[in-house]
Amino acid sequence: MSFVKEFNLLPLAGLVKYSLAASAADASESLAKGTLSLSDFARLISPAAAELLEPLCRRSQQLTQQRFGKVIRLFAPLYLSNECINNCKYCGFSRDNPILRVTLSVEEARREARSLMAHGFRNILLVSGEHPKFVSSGYLAECVRALHEEVPSVSLEVGPMEAEEYRPIVQAGADGLVVYQETYARSVYADMHTAGPKRNFEWRMETPERAYAAGFRRLGIGALFGLSDWRFEALSVAAHADYLLRHCWKAQLTISLPRLRPCAGEFQPLTRMNDRELVQLVCAFRLMFPDVGLVLSTREPAKLRDGLVLLGITLMSAGSHTEPGGYTGAGREKLHHTERGRIVELGASEWASAGPDVHATGQFDIADDRSPQEVAELIRKLGYEPVWKDWDAALVRVEE
Ligand code: SF4
Repeated sequence: MSFVKEFNLLPLAGLVKYSLAASAADASESLAKGTLSLSDFARLISPAAAELLEPLCRRSQQLTQQRFGKVIRLFAPLYLSNECINNCKYCGFSRDNPILRVTLSVEEARREARSLMAHGFRNILLVSGEHPKFVSSGYLAECVRALHEEVPSVSLEVGPMEAEEYRPIVQAGADGLVVYQETYARSVYADMHTAGPKRNFEWRMETPERAYAAGFRRLGIGALFGLSDWRFEALSVAAHADYLLRHCWKAQLTISLPRLRPCAGEFQPLTRMNDRELVQLVCAFRLMFPDVGLVLSTREPAKLRDGLVLLGITLMSAGSHTEPGGYTGAGREKLHHTERGRIVELGASEWASAGPDVHATGQFDIADDRSPQEVAELIRKLGYEPVWKDWDAALVRVEE
């Protein structure tokens, strides 16, 4: 049975109500348990549990140090393309946004990767919009093959594909696939995704299972907080993680907790999750899933990220750019607009008005603009070790 079938049977609305009605005593009881159910998780993200934030943080910190050591793994996103055939109301790359677009060549991607390696990164996440014409499975496999010659760990966050399309990418050396459901609320999902294949809610939800079948060893999931009620989203992510841990148990699992950031199109979040609630959620995920990696991106401001290093996060991006060519300026001379899948070159007046610093448009504005070295230094100051390498092919061979 796929997760979609399980998801359809879940009493999620009831669990949200249960969470809202939980008492401090209920939350304390769940906090003291060794193994948690989805109902316990609902209690830990309750308004009542917000009053227990200190003990929740202590337990989360203790569990994280016990399972992962005092270590924060660092990674960097490398945007390959901002072409997209979907319209997602909250995303700057949406098809109908009149932004500057580019798809990097394999060599340009290699240049970007080398720049990241010079900063220390050995764990790179290749990101792109969804556009089969510009970002095909073959193109992605070529990029992975070229980068994996030098970068030990290459993962992807790209448009969902069939398992057969993923296989050549895995064979080329990719080890992880990240796909956020964005929102688990069907009606909100339908409203947010107005055009393109992404409208298919269930196809997207089954993506981690197809990725696992194709051989990916690391799977990443998450919701984009700001589209629907955060407790509903968190419970759905927890149920999804629980399913994947049971059915895709050979893969390592990570959960990301992105909150919506400003982007082209000026979309405003529909719901709010404040900083304290984000901290509470990180701790609740840690208690529910002691061995799952928790990921925090540069969407969050420096001060909050620094605090979360101590509380349960295990993987962070640093020094990120969300536009293709952002690290080296690669692809600048190919910038264009795209209309109905056709490239429209920039006219001389557009180049002139764009100014000398013209570059492809980013997906969203980042909130922590410190350099990778500054982030690594801060991690050290907090008594943790920054680790640049997430995966070693040699270890895989020994395990096999
Ligand atoms: S969220 Fe992804 S699929 Fe949607 S417009 Fe942005 S890049 Fe395209």
